[in-house]
Amino acid sequence: MLQPRTCCQYCGLSLLTTQPFCGDCLTHEHLFTQLHALSSYQAPYPKLIKQLKYSHQLIAGELLGQLLALSIASHFSKQQIARINYLIAVPLHPKKLRQRGFNQAQLIAKVVSTHLNITLLTGAIERKKETQAQEGLSIAKRRKNLRAAFAVTKNTHLQGKHIAIVDDVVTTGATINSLCQCLQAQKVASISVFCICRTDVRK
Ligand SMILES: [Zn+2]
Repeated sequence: MLQPRTCCQYCGLSLLTTQPFCGDCLTHEHLFTQLHALSSYQAPYPKLIKQLKYSHQLIAGELLGQLLALSIASHFSKQQIARINYLIAVPLHPKKLRQRGFNQAQLIAKVVSTHLNITLLTGAIERKKETQAQEGLSIAKRRKNLRAAFAVTKNTHLQGKHIAIVDDVVTTGATINSLCQCLQAQKVASISVFCICRTDVRK
């Protein structure tokens, strides 16, 4: 279940060859240092994520969090993990949070936090709006779409901190990039991304 994936060392995209980076990462710079995914978007993970999100089977979240923690611990050195100051789960929009009753990314992050002994920072970032799909938007609209999605709450000081963002599924990376922009505006030292599934949508 925890076999190393053949994937881009930078963005976690599955690769058919053993090259270290995908074509996209060779030409574009990301706002995060590295994305580590437990798996591609493949069985059994999408089903477990759906059970967590839509059937409220919190045990699925516990399992996913444990597997992600194990995967991180086998991929990164103890020193690299110890250097991370905070885990931050991608926040849900308040409306969605009310509908669902919980944030699945937060639940996964909490398990990872316990297993890897990294502080989970809650309430530091708020989601102003849902990130629209970036495809089909003009460059100006894309920037606006990304810029306004997240905001740091008052009394949050992240300058110089090493942050790891936790999410369940990363597809185009639009949401992650938006959150990275918000964090970079706070002058964080580095941003890593940990997720359960990295979908193989090519831009
Ligand atoms: Zn890549």
